[in-house]
Amino acid sequence: MARNLFSRLRPSGRMVRVLVSEGIDGDLAVDGPTGALSQRREALRPGPWTWLRQVHGPRVILVEGPGDGAGSEADASVTAQTDTALSIQVADCAPVALASPGGLAVAHVGWRGLQAGVLEQASNLLAQVAPGPQESVVGPCIRACCYEFGDSDLEALCEQFGNDVRALTSDGRPALDLPEGVRIALERCGVVEIVFDGVCTGCDQRHWSHRVGGTRRRQAMVAWMEAP
Ligand SMILES: [Zn+2]
Repeated sequence: MARNLFSRLRPSGRMVRVLVSEGIDGDLAVDGPTGALSQRREALRPGPWTWLRQVHGPRVILVEGPGDGAGSEADASVTAQTDTALSIQVADCAPVALASPGGLAVAHVGWRGLQAGVLEQASNLLAQVAPGPQESVVGPCIRACCYEFGDSDLEALCEQFGNDVRALTSDGRPALDLPEGVRIALERCGVVEIVFDGVCTGCDQRHWSHRVGGTRRRQAMVAWMEAP
């Protein structure tokens, strides 16, 4: 069943909620049949969702109300509105939520998005529309144990984020530590608290993994703020 990754009551009385689905909640990929998809979304979080056509880039959109901007080609979304559900679909890339005292953002972060600066773009836009300290939660993603990675791309990521992103797979091959890269990028943005789900999509049977299973199915992160 969907896991509650983060729920926090704000001094304003708003409640921030971040959920991530598991395989048992069904396929949340956006290119499947839409009837089944809307039923699965409804079961997780009723009402319209802002979902994105994700392209591993840095673009972030501002969402002004429920369902606004759905289907936009972007990899992150930001809102300062309550009852406005933001979502990301993933099967190895990291789903990341950012929360400030009056706003919320979600981002789809694979290695290309990390390199392209999607977290910086999301954090900057969130700071503009809802200033204040930012906290973050990083959902299930592929971890170094399952993420063998090519030399030249790994070199480029080490230049950008430092050698801590270099790791080994469980059988000793060169690997990328994606959550470590996410942590470094978030800290550079000044994020004050980062919560990691810690689950590896490659080795945890509750989740789909494109890398390990070759699937086209996706789990989803959905995040919203409830009015007092
Ligand atoms: Zn693993």
